Amino acid sequence: MTDPSVVAAHRSRSAGPETHGRPPAGRWTVDAVAELFALPFPDLVYRAQTVHRAHHAANAVQLSTLVSIKTGGCPEDCGYCPQAARFHTGVENQALLDVGEVVAAARAARDAGATRFCMGAAWRGPKERDLASVLDMVRAVKALGLEACATLGMLKDGQAEALREAGLDYYNHNLDTAPEFYGEIIHTRDYDDRLATLERVREAGMHVCCGGIVGMGESRAQRAALVAQLANLDPYPESVPINHLVQVEGTPLHAKLGGESALDPFEFVRTVAVARITMPKAKVRLSAGRRELGEAIQALCFVAGANSIFYGDRLLTTGNADADADRELFARLGLSAQA
Ligand code: SF4
Repeated sequence: MTDPSVVAAHRSRSAGPETHGRPPAGRWTVDAVAELFALPFPDLVYRAQTVHRAHHAANAVQLSTLVSIKTGGCPEDCGYCPQAARFHTGVENQALLDVGEVVAAARAARDAGATRFCMGAAWRGPKERDLASVLDMVRAVKALGLEACATLGMLKDGQAEALREAGLDYYNHNLDTAPEFYGEIIHTRDYDDRLATLERVREAGMHVCCGGIVGMGESRAQRAALVAQLANLDPYPESVPINHLVQVEGTPLHAKLGGESALDPFEFVRTVAVARITMPKAKVRLSAGRRELGEAIQALCFVAGANSIFYGDRLLTTGNADADADRELFARLGLSAQA
């Protein structure tokens, strides 16, 4: 189950100067991560870009496509999420897509240049009969030559193994925020539940996709605590989505924050840079809220080490306007899509 040392990492305050910001046992303290956040912006971005070039192709960005296979009606209460049944956001409770619809979306994603296909379901966790359908989807996506990723909520014993046997490459399960702030956002499950699912995914032999959301009213120290948690997972996730809160009317966070962004956009770039430095080999992914940040901030994020994006994050059809805008931005920045 949960490694208590991982949970305890956020409480550590002991990085000495001789460690150059990195505590001795290869673990990041919150203070060490906070020191990175506090660097002058050019120093931080330079350091992140240096780490980035040591481990990744400098100008390549991986494209992933996310498709919601089961939208709305979720019993959980994540304060940012329009899919929670208890919030009145206008998102309807829809049935699970059938395998044919998912295959069509995956084929369109592949034809548009995506190399990874992510399937998301608004569940607390998959029921057995639903899992059987998802396993069919995973097999079909793999047969198209795509990497397969799923985000289905908490996993019970045996479910991670079944997904792995079907060919799933990545399982996404975000820590969302710092342990200290988590209770302000979600009440229907706790931090240890998240860590337990991540451990099941690791034990089944799948890659982990795990990140968080910033701009929810958390402090910088809490952003540092989130990054420390991620970096101290052993091993740290292969894929780290950094989301910027998109405030949706009807959610508790929209009511709390009033629709105004709670975060300086440069702080978002700093978060990306710190994730890159602390998790050098991970794909750091710009996820929710990317387009709202604008092209200039996205470009800074790529310089700070982001090297994966969600691309055409709806069911893809020809002429997807968002995908076209991404292609144009890549051309202007000289970035290439990574196979
Ligand atoms: S578990 Fe997922 S779908 Fe459900 S409310 Fe939370 S974020 Fe939304």
